Order: sequence, then C-alpha cells, then structure tokens
Amino acid sequence: ETYLSRLKLAEPQLKSFIHVSNNVLKEAQSIDDKIKRNENVGPLAGVLVGVKDNICTVDMPSTAGSRVLENYRPPFDATAVKKVKEFDGIVVGKTNLDEFGMGSTTESSSFQVTANPWDISRVPGGSSGGSAAAVSARQCVVSLGSDTGGSVRQPASFCGVVGLKPTYGRVSRYGLIAYASSLDVIGCFGSSVADTGILLSAISGHDRLDATSSKQVRVLQISVSQEVPDFTSQLISAALLESKPLKGLKVGVIRETLENGVDSGVKSTVLGAVSHLEELGCTLSEVSLPSFSLGLPAYYILASSESSSNLSRYDGVRYGNQAAAEDLNALYGDSRAKGFGSEVKMRILMGTYALSAGYYDAYYKRAQQVRTLIQKSFKTALDENDILISPAAPSAAYKIGEKKNDPLAMYSGDIMTVNVNLAGLPALVLPCGFVEGGPIGLPVGLQMIGAAFDEGKLLKVGHIFE
Ligand code: GLN
Repeated sequence: ETYLSRLKLAEPQLKSFIHVSNNVLKEAQSIDDKIKRNENVGPLAGVLVGVKDNICTVDMPSTAGSRVLENYRPPFDATAVKKVKEFDGIVVGKTNLDEFGMGSTTESSSFQVTANPWDISRVPGGSSGGSAAAVSARQCVVSLGSDTGGSVRQPASFCGVVGLKPTYGRVSRYGLIAYASSLDVIGCFGSSVADTGILLSAISGHDRLDATSSKQVRVLQISVSQEVPDFTSQLISAALLESKPLKGLKVGVIRETLENGVDSGVKSTVLGAVSHLEELGCTLSEVSLPSFSLGLPAYYILASSESSSNLSRYDGVRYGNQAAAEDLNALYGDSRAKGFGSEVKMRILMGTYALSAGYYDAYYKRAQQVRTLIQKSFKTALDENDILISPAAPSAAYKIGEKKNDPLAMYSGDIMTVNVNLAGLPALVLPCGFVEGGPIGLPVGLQMIGAAFDEGKLLKVGHIFE
C-alpha cells in the first residue's frame, strides 16, 4: 500500500508508467496468505517489480512505447516475467520507454515523456527511463529494463540507481519485443546492488524458448524450492571482515573513456570512485581499448540494420493497429506510416540502406568487422584485469528537449555503453557521487565491466563499493 500510494502521488509529475496493474493488493494478499499457511515463498515475495513495456505481460498491455502496438495484449508472459512471478514478485505495472527502445531519453515514447526524479525538468535517460525513474522515486522496489546499447546503464546513471546489464544470453529474451536481436538483453534496476542481484538471479538461466540463452549456472544459486538464503548479510559480513576487502582485485581504468568529450564534473567524480577502489585494496592500472571510438558508428549501423529487419513484422496484419486502406500495399504503408514515430522511421531507413546491395560491404560488413576488433580488445584487457572501469555516460542528466532535435548529439551520449553490448559483456552501473545541477545535485554513475558470465564478481565488488 505504501509503494502504491507513493507511485500514485509521484506519477502525475514523473509519468514513469504506461500502465499500472489493478491486481497489486490482491496478489500481495495471496502471498501473505501463503506465508500464513507456512508455505514456502520465493525470494521476491511481495516485492513490487516494474516491467519495461517492451517486455510481454499476459494481463497488461505491452506497447513497446509505440502506437503500432497500442492495443496489443500478448497471449503470454515473457520468460523473465514468468520467473518474477514464480519467485512471488508482483508486477506493479509497465514502464515508459523510447519507442521500441530506440533513444536515450524516453522522449521518443509515443505516449509520454518521463521526468527525472532528481530534477523534473530533466530527462531520466533512456530507453528504460520509466524503469529507472520508478526505482529512483521508490514507486516500485526493483524493475526490469532492456539494454541494447546502454538502455539500462545510462538511465541508472541519470537517476542515481543501480543498473545491471547481464552477459548476452544470461537472461532469456523470449517475450522481449525485439530491437536488435544480437545485442538485446533484459537487465535489472534496484536501489542497491543486493536488490539488483536478487532480481538478476530470479530471471537468469537457460530457456528452451530462446536458443541464444545460455546453459551457464544461475548467478547466485537461488532456486524456487530452496529456502531464501540470506545472501545480503553474507555479502555485508564479507565486506566488514577485512580492512582491504578488495585486496588483489585488478582494476583497469579505460583511458579512452576519460578523454575528450567527458564532462569535467563526471570525470572528477569517477576518478574519486577509482581512488575509493584503491583504498579498498584494488590494484589499479590504465588500459587502452584502441577501437573504442569505433563502437558508436558500428553500433548504430548494426542496431539499425537488425531493427529494420525485426520491425518488418509490424505490417498492420499480424500485430497491432491496422490502417483503413483500399489495397494491401496501402494497408502496409499506412499502418506503418501512422504507427511508427519519426525516430523509428529514421532507424528503419538507415538500417535498410546499410543492408542494401552495393552498400552492404561498406557498412554492415565493415561494422561486423569492427565488432570483432572490439570483442578482441576487451578480451585482452579482461585477461589482464578482473574488471574495467569507465563513466556510465559522458554527462549527467540533461534538460528535456535539449537534444531532441539533434540525433547525433544524442547518439554520441551512448559512447560509454555501446561497446559493451557489441562484446556481449556484463556491466554494473552504480551511483558514485554528484555533480552540480538541479535543486539538489545530479547523480553520476560508475560503470564496472566484467568478463562474460562474471556477474557474480561485479555484484560482489559493487556491493563492497557501495
Ligand atoms: N540509445 C541507444 C539507442 O537508441 C540504446 C538503446 C537501448 O539500449 N535500447 O539505440
């Protein structure tokens, strides 16, 4: 009831949710009854979980922030949502996002713009801006987002919450409305590293409905039938035992992420966090990822190409809204013209161009080659270091409208995050300080990047750090 009333109180200003469930109290009651009957309950018992609206839910709309899916009600739950429910979590509602996850501010949602709880004249980041704002304002406890090029990590940074992008394949994509399938991954938001880790362990694991989901073991060994392990206290006691709890941990600071184009306040805050890691016992070194700056163009070519293919299914026949038209071609054309917003249309055009005969070699193929270079340079850096460090974004949250008409300025804000998706690696973003701005300052996020399937290490380091 407390969460619901806070949600409703903040919602007129924040607009984090596209849809709020009517069943929250009923579901909470039934979990309470289970506890009273002495039945086992899962680690998310009674926890309110916000779900980004590009993740399918059977009893609520799933719009992906697009008019094209305005009236779409999926006949199934995404695997991640199914698992949240199996762990006795309660889906509180569907959160706002940039249409199909394309954007960095939530301004390209077809329905509403979400505000940043730290300063409502600023963007919460995107595309999972609704999920980040909702946790930041404590409208829910934790939330699910998706991260194709930074959409969990950048909004976590802008809203001062913890955001985790898992390894590609760690979490099933079944029921995640596709943007760029080789990059998409469902991720988690929480107000602490421990909360984020509990949610991650709930949704992780192989799923026969997603052939790219991995058979690697669960992250934190929590299973539904087990009693809830008190792993938070385990983490805390481990941290308290030693004066240098991270002794011997090798941390590589990525040189290219602290060079030109990074806001000076962000840079000094992140460097402050780096010295804190040193105090905790880490061994620091500077690492260079020579192909770092190529990540942005490669990402935008690959993501647009994949999206131009994925979005061809919205033809007005199979899904969602259908325009009235005289013949089939007009029906396709009008449904798409009316259903898609301008950012999505631009991506489809860019992607179709990059995949066209005659241009394919120069753009798509080249971008794939760059992707391999980036993967290799991360591998070298992570062979020598346990984790890599960078800012999560080159600036703190900016004003609503500031970059709306300047797509290049907006795209370049993704420089810190896209490389990680191209390499398929896990990364944790956590608040590490503030810069000036807004009524009380604006949060800055620190990004920790780990080797594939090494989320456990990121969570441990993050927990000790925070
Ligand atoms: N801002 C990036 C884009 O627009 C990333 C989006 C995402 O991760 N879904 O493509």
